Amino acid sequence: MFDSILIANRGEIAARIIRTCKSIGVRTVAVYSEADASAPHVAAADEAVEIGPAHVTKSYLNQEAVLQAAADHDVDAIHPGYGLMSENPEFVRAVEDAGLVFIGPRPEVMELMGDKARARAFAEEAGVPVVPGSDGPVENADEAKKIAESLGYPVLVKASAGGGGIGMNLAANEKKLEKAIKTSIRRAESAFGDPTFYIEKYVENPRHVEIQVLADNDGHAVHFFERECSVQRRHQKVIEEAPSPASTRFDGLRDRMTKAALALVEASEYTNAGTVEFIVSPDGEFYFIEMNTRLQVEHPVTEMITGEDLVAWQLRIAAGESLSLAQEDLSIDGSAIECRIYAENPDKRFMPAPGNITEWIEPTGDGIRVDSGVTANTKVTPYYDPLIAKVIAHGESRMQAIERMKKALNEMTIGELTTNVPMHLAVLSKEQFVDGHVHTGWLETEYS
Ligand code: ADP
Ligand code: ADP
Ligand code: MG
Repeated sequence: MFDSILIANRGEIAARIIRTCKSIGVRTVAVYSEADASAPHVAAADEAVEIGPAHVTKSYLNQEAVLQAAADHDVDAIHPGYGLMSENPEFVRAVEDAGLVFIGPRPEVMELMGDKARARAFAEEAGVPVVPGSDGPVENADEAKKIAESLGYPVLVKASAGGGGIGMNLAANEKKLEKAIKTSIRRAESAFGDPTFYIEKYVENPRHVEIQVLADNDGHAVHFFERECSVQRRHQKVIEEAPSPASTRFDGLRDRMTKAALALVEASEYTNAGTVEFIVSPDGEFYFIEMNTRLQVEHPVTEMITGEDLVAWQLRIAAGESLSLAQEDLSIDGSAIECRIYAENPDKRFMPAPGNITEWIEPTGDGIRVDSGVTANTKVTPYYDPLIAKVIAHGESRMQAIERMKKALNEMTIGELTTNVPMHLAVLSKEQFVDGHVHTGWLETEYS
């Protein structure tokens, strides 16, 4: 195992990684921007290094500054968390060139999966069902029209480099297609510096169901069952749970999806933790949409139902240990739900709502876990993602998890900041949610 690692991230995920390191005796080095000097992840780490001004390009995305901090503090490895540089193969190579270990998959597989059009083709080749769509990137509007015609409208124009729901636009008919393409290109260009796009059939009212996988460097891989993440706004998750209510609804669905996910892992020689994302149609058909080559925001629900620490496994695998878990060692215990607490206003089209946290009291209780990146007197700035904490509730049944979550959210005190907590409470009481019947467009129709 490593003696020490640097965490190239901030907020709740940096704090969460530090927690595992403490429990297994690994020294931690945090990095932070000028805006984050008093952040909890800085206080929690054994050492902390300021790496630049608030803006991410000058601090958290500044490879040189991060690598300098790693060298100065003599760490063995770097954990990238999620977002920021976690899916950047250039960064992985720079880490390795500096003689350090990157805690995550190899850069080649990251490159493959990071190009969503290429990943789709690769998955299809590996026998994984994909959404009907273009064979790879689409060159221009004329080609797009032909493809959309043969698929049938509505179609989704998606950026190959996309992530976070960015660069994805719906075209209901041919008239709307040109505009959808233009918007995708513009947004993809500014967010990722890459205008490449592809087209998928728009699956109506799907669920988002994903499989957590873990593989070591000797080709041994296991899955940690599924998570459902259908409560979304702007194609981004807000509430996640494990297991998925769809698994009880459709016979054999879990079995087929986990097999497909492991087939992709095997074909791509994937290593470390990853998530294979699918959408599931209302009639129980599933289709691959992408693979995320990192730890996922919603990984805690999986940890709650399996009793495993995914970050600890990431570290062990990166340190060269083989995966001492067989698939039979893993089983599902009860049900878990995660509510992402965002500093945003659901009544104002979910716009970010930065501000000062004057009071912060986290809920406790049976089955409750809170992963947070803030505390009292933290200033939520507009520089970063408005995710400030995650509340996770575990229960023997899904209903018990929901009830525990409601109690926890009612007890949570967040002074003076506008958050989506009231929205969570409303959703947790809606019949469709309680019945396990929501699709990815449902939340936005409730708040429009
Ligand atoms: P996930 O795919 O893990 O569920 P999302 O889809 O919500 O996460 O996030 C979309 C993208 O934004 C991902 O690349 C994720 O890593 C990134 N992201 C989300 N929240 C944060 C955050 N607090 N800080 C940095 N990056 C983030
Ligand atoms: P990102 O890389 O931004 O996470 P994904 O491809 O994972 O993009 O898709 C994000 C979300 O967009 C999905 O969870 C789903 O809600 C919706 N989505 C993606 N592809 C389709 C599709 N073909 N049909 C319907 N909805 C889709
Ligand atoms: Mg996704």
